[in-house]
Amino acid sequence: MLTIKRYVRAQSLDEAYTLCQKRANVVLGGMLWLKTQNRTVDTAIDLCDLGLSNIEETPDAFRIGAMVTLRELEQHPGLAALTGGAMAESVRSIVGVQFRNLATVGGSLYGRFGFSDVLTLFLALDAVVELHHGGAVPLADYAARPYERDILTHVVVPKQPGRVAYLAQRNVSTDFPVLTCAVAVRQDGVRCAVGARPMKAKLYEGDAALLAGGITPESAAAFAEQVTSEVSFGSNLRAGADYRRAICKVLVRRALLACKEDA
Ligand SMILES: Cc1cc2nc3c(=O)[nH]c(=O)nc-3n(C[C@H](O)[C@H](O)[C@H](O)COP(=O)(O)OP(=O)(O)OC[C@H]3O[C@@H](n4cnc5c(N)ncnc54)[C@H](O)[C@@H]3O)c2cc1C
Repeated sequence: MLTIKRYVRAQSLDEAYTLCQKRANVVLGGMLWLKTQNRTVDTAIDLCDLGLSNIEETPDAFRIGAMVTLRELEQHPGLAALTGGAMAESVRSIVGVQFRNLATVGGSLYGRFGFSDVLTLFLALDAVVELHHGGAVPLADYAARPYERDILTHVVVPKQPGRVAYLAQRNVSTDFPVLTCAVAVRQDGVRCAVGARPMKAKLYEGDAALLAGGITPESAAAFAEQVTSEVSFGSNLRAGADYRRAICKVLVRRALLACKEDA
């Protein structure tokens, strides 16, 4: 059970940051992951008064506040257009609508969970997280960092031409995924994020030369084979490493072909 001794609605990011420096204090997102934990928290820091619940569009990017919910990501027309529907696809199997109405993008990216669909897609989108103290950090670097006591305020998704596809494999719908895969085909190459390995998602560029003649069933299969050879997999109660390796080749190939179909 999660026990909270004191609740504070922070009135500034500085206040939230100062409070979160103490080990016994905790920042609240939607609290869905936190409430699965068995711990006692001194002060729970609520960010809901800090204006972090908006998705702003600029000519170059979407800037998404940390308190934006997964459901808002799923239903946002601008993000749908930018990602060709991949944003909604990446979250649609996360438990259910009521859950996604509460779970936040800040909690999802701060958590850097191994099973995260959200982290996988945002990696392929070349997202950058904004930390109150630490400033702007590419998500790929942030994902590899140890947990720091800072407030994640926003995630910025640059508008880039190209196509994006998201696919995941689950044993049962709404369960944690067995493997996640996001592919973005850009003018300067391909970004391929693979997660739930079961280790957290990582970005792979693959050998772009394999796609020099265009995306065909053969070149997509060769690219998927090559990317998969770079990925390390592990086993857990959902699947073994060999099964994940086999699935990875299929998801990367299908995601590439989906990008071509979209084009
Ligand atoms: C039963 C269950 C099933 C799930 N299934 C999936 C799934 O299939 N796929 C998937 O991708 N995800 C899944 N998730 C994860 C979920 O989507 C969210 O990522 C998770 O609940 C965290 O989001 P939250 O808003 O609830 O954060 P919280 O639980 O409130 O916080 C999580 C962590 O982030 C910290 N935190 C929150 N916001 C900030 C911030 N702005 N700055 C700094 N630190 C912050 C908190 O202190 C805490 O350490 C699942 C979670 C649960 C509980």
